[in-house]
Amino acid sequence: MTRADVAVVGSGPNGLAAAVTMARAGLTVHVHEQAATVGGGLRGAALFDSAIWHDTCAAVHPMAAASAFFREFDLAARGVALLRAPIAYAHPLDRGAAAFAYHDLTRTCDRLGPDGGRWRRLMAPLVRHSTGVTDFLLSGQRSLPHDLAAPLLLGPRLLGHLLGSDGLRTEAARALLTGVAAHAVGRLPSLPAGAIALLLGHLAHATGWPLPRGGSVRIAEALVDDLRAHGGIVHTGRRITDLAELDAQVIMLDTTPHGLLALAGDRLPPRYRRALERFRYGPGAAKVDFLVSGPIPWANPEVGQAGTVHVGGARAGMVAAENATARGEAAKEPFVLVVDPAVTDPGRAVGGRRPVWAYAHVPNGDTRDPVPLVTRRIERYAPGFADTVIAARGVSAAEYETYNPNYRGGDIGAGAVTLTQAVFRPVPAWNPYRTPLAGVYLCSASTPPGPSVHGLCGHLAARAALRREFHLAAAPPLGPTDETSSPSTIMGRDPGDSGSPSR
Ligand SMILES: Cc1cc2nc3c(=O)[nH]c(=O)nc-3n(C[C@H](O)[C@H](O)[C@H](O)COP(=O)(O)OP(=O)(O)OC[C@H]3O[C@@H](n4cnc5c(N)ncnc54)[C@H](O)[C@@H]3O)c2cc1C
Repeated sequence: MTRADVAVVGSGPNGLAAAVTMARAGLTVHVHEQAATVGGGLRGAALFDSAIWHDTCAAVHPMAAASAFFREFDLAARGVALLRAPIAYAHPLDRGAAAFAYHDLTRTCDRLGPDGGRWRRLMAPLVRHSTGVTDFLLSGQRSLPHDLAAPLLLGPRLLGHLLGSDGLRTEAARALLTGVAAHAVGRLPSLPAGAIALLLGHLAHATGWPLPRGGSVRIAEALVDDLRAHGGIVHTGRRITDLAELDAQVIMLDTTPHGLLALAGDRLPPRYRRALERFRYGPGAAKVDFLVSGPIPWANPEVGQAGTVHVGGARAGMVAAENATARGEAAKEPFVLVVDPAVTDPGRAVGGRRPVWAYAHVPNGDTRDPVPLVTRRIERYAPGFADTVIAARGVSAAEYETYNPNYRGGDIGAGAVTLTQAVFRPVPAWNPYRTPLAGVYLCSASTPPGPSVHGLCGHLAARAALRREFHLAAAPPLGPTDETSSPSTIMGRDPGDSGSPSR
């Protein structure tokens, strides 16, 4: 293997964002991925039918649509179409009732009836300052916000969330907001869950909750195309087991702190080692990929127009289930997220068959097959769903770690999103990306600003390494160049085809 300026271990969105940033700075970059294909949480597969693509991890991308890294990278200019359903997310309730977050804030407020005004007062100012709010919450948390209105708007709202005084009175509005807070996959209420509720909640009415046409893998392909256009090389199918295997001036690890512990052995100073060992992981996700014969028969048909559906029931039940799960207890009625990608991207349905993506929040390390549990949860609000299922594949929380070592015990956030770990991620340090080993950096979702597909952990870690190791203070430009603005793998596709990738 030839020596590179930079070796990146792991090709998730953060590993690729770090690689792109450093290749754009003129460095030689080699990416090493243990899986056969690139993308980490952006990967997918044609599981049952070669024409039908399933997102095996992430499916919906509010963060990729809004994050500072992807705003500049400009997915759209690279042919990645981010498609939005008119209803960003829906929340079915018993007896056919449901609540809806439309992309249009006014329509959302109108439908929320007596709580419409309160929803508007909560969300409208955030929508007006969306870029500032997003950049403040998705930052390395070590710099002053560029829009000072962001912390001023968020502070009182977060306090209200924590004290349970968001003012919402109807069950529909309360469930709608709590369903978004549940994306934190942890204790409710909490400050990090409140921050996620406000971030994702307002984005539904701003840049939206889009799905990339053809599947999440399109985002990974665009990043890899850009990396290759700037001289980067990607090696797949080999797990790095020791840092000594890498010949590079700088090593960027798209791994968890425990991944770093395994790779570094006893080369880490004992104090830093102990700090990494204290890093905590959150509850797990147990995923089901269904192949079905038609749209989900929701009791309330309008739910079927939503890009994402939160199956959690009323607020009190969701809070109880999330808190039980965070304590390590199996909730009887766990929170389940459901996406029928063909609602937003009709090309994902072929010959009357379509994929359905769903996962349940379960205790870390849970070994149960999630298929019966998730099917039962969907059936409650969509009677007859089970009859549409042609095939299903369940991945328990425990099994997720085999698929991707970053998902320890099924924790898809690569670390619990607690208040301490939201700021001190992975350890208390001014520069959370740098490790005590010369030239070795962490760049995964285990660093700020944490989980989701926004690329910012990788980008911010790369900026830190560029400054310190290569004395490059200026941020390299990330926008499309002539070679990368029309990637053949994406632009050449027939928009009506199934989305099965060429890889
Ligand atoms: C079921 C599920 C649903 C999700 N839904 C969404 C969603 O809808 N929207 C969203 O924004 N986010 C979602 N996420 C979360 C999102 O996928 C992650 O937050 C994101 O992928 C983290 O990116 P990353 O680069 O830090 O790590 P990852 O994407 O996990 O990538 C890490 C990569 O490193 C590789 N690796 C690790 N160790 C080694 C090693 N030693 N040698 C070689 N390679 C190694 C792994 O194989 C992997 O490819 C979901 C995740 C899951 C699992």
